[in-house]
Amino acid sequence: MLLPPAVPANLLRPWSWRRALLWGALTVLLLVAQTLLVALTLRYEAAREQEKVDQVAAEVAGRLKQIADRDLRGLQGLLWNDPSADPGPRWAQDSAELLRRTRPILRLEYRNAQRLITRSTDSPYVSPLYLQASREEMEIETQLACAAALRQGAQQFSRSYFIVLAGGEGLEVFDLCLPQLRNGQGPSFVVATLSLRYLLEEAVSEELARGAEFSFVESDGTRLARAGLTRGAGNYLAERLVDVSGLTLQLKVDSAAGRPQLIPNLTTALVLGLSLALFVLVFLLARDGRRRAFAEHALAEALAFRHAMENSLVTGLRARDMAGNITYVNPAFCAMVGFRAEDLLGQDSPPYWPPEFVEEYRHRHKDRKARWSAGEDPRQGFETVFMRRNSERFPVLIFEAPLLDAQGHQTGWMSAVLDVSDQRRVEELSRQQQDRLQATARLATVGEMASLLSHELNQPLAAIASYSAASLNLLTLEAHDAQTPELVRQAVSRIAEQAERAGRVIKSVHDFVRRRDQSRETIGVDQLFEAVLPLVRLQARKSGARIEVDLPRPAPRVRCDRTMVEQVLLNLTRNGIQAMDGEGPEATPLAQRVLVLRARQTEPGWVSIAVRDNGPGISPEVARQLYTPFFTTRAEGMGLGLSLCRTVIEQHGGALDFVNRADQNAGEPSGRGTEFRFTLATPPGSGSAPKPDGAESARPSSESESSEHEHQPKQRP
Ligand code: ADP
Repeated sequence: MLLPPAVPANLLRPWSWRRALLWGALTVLLLVAQTLLVALTLRYEAAREQEKVDQVAAEVAGRLKQIADRDLRGLQGLLWNDPSADPGPRWAQDSAELLRRTRPILRLEYRNAQRLITRSTDSPYVSPLYLQASREEMEIETQLACAAALRQGAQQFSRSYFIVLAGGEGLEVFDLCLPQLRNGQGPSFVVATLSLRYLLEEAVSEELARGAEFSFVESDGTRLARAGLTRGAGNYLAERLVDVSGLTLQLKVDSAAGRPQLIPNLTTALVLGLSLALFVLVFLLARDGRRRAFAEHALAEALAFRHAMENSLVTGLRARDMAGNITYVNPAFCAMVGFRAEDLLGQDSPPYWPPEFVEEYRHRHKDRKARWSAGEDPRQGFETVFMRRNSERFPVLIFEAPLLDAQGHQTGWMSAVLDVSDQRRVEELSRQQQDRLQATARLATVGEMASLLSHELNQPLAAIASYSAASLNLLTLEAHDAQTPELVRQAVSRIAEQAERAGRVIKSVHDFVRRRDQSRETIGVDQLFEAVLPLVRLQARKSGARIEVDLPRPAPRVRCDRTMVEQVLLNLTRNGIQAMDGEGPEATPLAQRVLVLRARQTEPGWVSIAVRDNGPGISPEVARQLYTPFFTTRAEGMGLGLSLCRTVIEQHGGALDFVNRADQNAGEPSGRGTEFRFTLATPPGSGSAPKPDGAESARPSSESESSEHEHQPKQRP
């Protein structure tokens, strides 16, 4: 469940048009907001600059007024200080003083009633005005002003005019004519020539002069005088009409400030940057949220999947922490033991432990880690007993694995628990069925043997009958000769022999049918052979076959359920004898009817036992179904023999197979017939069991019998 670093592709939902629309709207909103912010800031900056210029214009206009008022007062003072018709040296002194104090006034003239200049003083700051141009040329404006002043009885300004100074420089100036009316005398005038430029320069402080271009302009835009910068930037202009003691001047201020930058200042840049960062953050957050949602979705799916899986499992799951407390159980486990999860969680000695095993289980849990570290494979599982709520004990198979957290540290143990009680029941049932089948097969064999038995018992019984008859005859004979008692003794001893033989026959069958002991034991193969040989011989005798036993000395020992293996041997020998029996072209000639029982230790730990006949062999069709239960080619057969034989041998861990001797490899005894062989394990600890003493070279202890030649009651001559 690893996310969001890698979101599984199948979990990614398609990019829906709604979300696209949302993101589009958000982007547009951000762009509009940013643009608006920039535009407003630009406007604000421009307005601020404009306001600044307006303020400067107002300030300069105020200063101009102050300067004009000051100058006017000075001029009036000049008039009042020396009210004589022809001013004397005092005027010259006062006027010079006034000119020194007021820079804008360039020249002072005293004019008589005829408006002729009687005295004049020039400013010490500029060269005398009328060196280049003559005063008369500029008189007209002055005369007009003085005439008007006289008419109105108050000071009058002339229109401005331009005077060329020495050095080619020029100045725009205007005259101020102040009339002085004396009683009984003609009027006199003081005419002051003022420079517009100097007026402006005085009004504009040094600091203001650095920030803008100041000028007086006419209504048609002609510039009359200028101060401050040579040229303004032309972006922020302020025009103002300044009324200077009756003279209206148009002041124009042109700021040096440029247009604001696209991002006008640090604040705007910061706001823009922050809002962009915010947008990116929102985007990242949204992406993160989306991934988180996917991860949660995936987690929910995984949980649901896990839940469904847990609920559908028939295997019980149980987790325990390192201390042995139960941390998790699934529904199957609860159903198995019959307790609720709440009853089990947190328990270190759970109620499903049968009380008699609690200590043992505790101990087992304690050394679990040691066993695990010792390399025990937990996948092999172990079987143990649990207890249901109703105290019923039942077998379980447990597979354990360490429980690791995300960092790979072990936090406990996870166990898969299988209730194997049904399996054990089935196994028991199948074992019982096998037993029943075995018993049935045994009975069938016995049934088959019944005829043999009757045939076999017939002979000793007939012999007994004939010996008895002979004895009776001898005893009832009137003429006893000397041999009679001896003959009767012989006959009776023959009777006893035959009776004993018949008893042996019956006992061997009885032993076979009665033996049901199923325990495994270690036994020599010779003992196995000896146990079945009486019955085998019984069968062999009927068909005139010989039995050969080929065993190394000492005979190898095997670990087996002897009754079962004897049954196998009996089945195989019976099949071999039956294969050689019979008449017709397929029949084995009497001389070749030999059944060989052989045992060899073929490899360490295993002994191979073979039953070989000289019968017709097994055809491929028969071979295909050989081990199928109830398959038989014989009218009186049951078809269970070989299937049971194989089951028995496999239960012992061995294998049963056969070869047609005609197909056998070169080097092995060939001929006609079949060899059935099976393997059995040697007892534990004798894996390299004593090598059959000269197994190959040992002379087989061969027995050959023929019922015709042995145990045949000797007939009386
Ligand atoms: P049954 O002996 O009751 O027929 P088996 O399972 O022992 O049942 O044998 C099945 C069949 O296999 C026999 O009917 C016979 O045709 C064949 N068979 C078994 N052993 C031999 C053998 N040694 N030689 C030839 N055929 C054999």
